[in-house]
Amino acid sequence: SKDLGNNQSVIYRSEFYQQITDAFELQKDLEVAIENNDLELYLQSQIHPHEPLPRAEALIRWQHPKRGWISPEIFIALAEESNLIIEVDKWMLTEACKLLVQQRKIGRQLHISVNISGQHFSHPNFLEHMLIIFASTGVDPRQITLELTENIFLDDFDTIIDKMQELKTRGVRFSIDDFGTGYSSLSYLKRLPVDEVKVDRSFVQKLTDNEEDQSLVKSVFEIAQSFNLEVVVEGVETSEQEVILNQLGEPIIQGYLYARPVPYRKWLDTLPN
Ligand code: C2E
Ligand code: CA
Ligand code: CA
Ligand code: CA
Repeated sequence: SKDLGNNQSVIYRSEFYQQITDAFELQKDLEVAIENNDLELYLQSQIHPHEPLPRAEALIRWQHPKRGWISPEIFIALAEESNLIIEVDKWMLTEACKLLVQQRKIGRQLHISVNISGQHFSHPNFLEHMLIIFASTGVDPRQITLELTENIFLDDFDTIIDKMQELKTRGVRFSIDDFGTGYSSLSYLKRLPVDEVKVDRSFVQKLTDNEEDQSLVKSVFEIAQSFNLEVVVEGVETSEQEVILNQLGEPIIQGYLYARPVPYRKWLDTLPN
């Protein structure tokens, strides 16, 4: 009836405003969390088929004082609505660099992949941000991979190349994250200084019973080979998936099968001396 309809729209509207208020508060809380150093660096191992060099992806975690753990899917998306994402990325990269330097002093050579949001990459000060963090921490940039998603291609191509080249000369590696889920053409791989592609979890989930996904992953391996790129497959949860992947190529594997993301100290504890 009409009444019910009105009622529903009122409820709906108030929920809508509640959500906006929540989002706004969460954004403020995140700002405070960055300032207070309440974010946490987690690391998830990436297992190479032959090389023993310990490497991991840096993943951010946030335990909200009142709401508990909040998924990065939620607060990263929120941070991307403002320049807050820049602060998040900078915080994360700084922590990763500090860890690399500290571990190097005790003789450990590690490699860490850090996520960079497209919004941040496109920002005019992106390069400056990276160089300041490298200089102030004293990290060897060759120990860093920056993971970029295909949404950096909203920027104009020459600017993208310039930014990447500048970091490349310092030894930074580049990875294209969530490879295959974007809308861009593959031709960019030839023109950009990319070192690695990461196959998205969504392609791995149905790998054991979906031939389409198998041939898709297979073609990623072929592309990677012809462009001389490393392949990381993420979201590998079962040995069945691993067996198929190793038949198609021999990727670096990141997934619950080997390791979940863990607090960085715990990750360090698993390393050989
Ligand atoms: P992503 O970069 O694609 O990271 C991979 C996600 O897959 C992570 O989720 C990881 O925990 C999860 N994952 C890895 N292996 C498995 C598996 O075997 N099974 C399942 N079910 N999941 C697996 P997480 O940590 O929740 O992060 C979600 C997204 O948030 C990331 O996706 C990334 O886009 C973003 N993110 C996380 N940390 C940062 C950061 O420091 N900066 C930026 N800009 N984004 C970040
Ligand atoms: Ca990533
Ligand atoms: Ca990914
Ligand atoms: Ca993803």
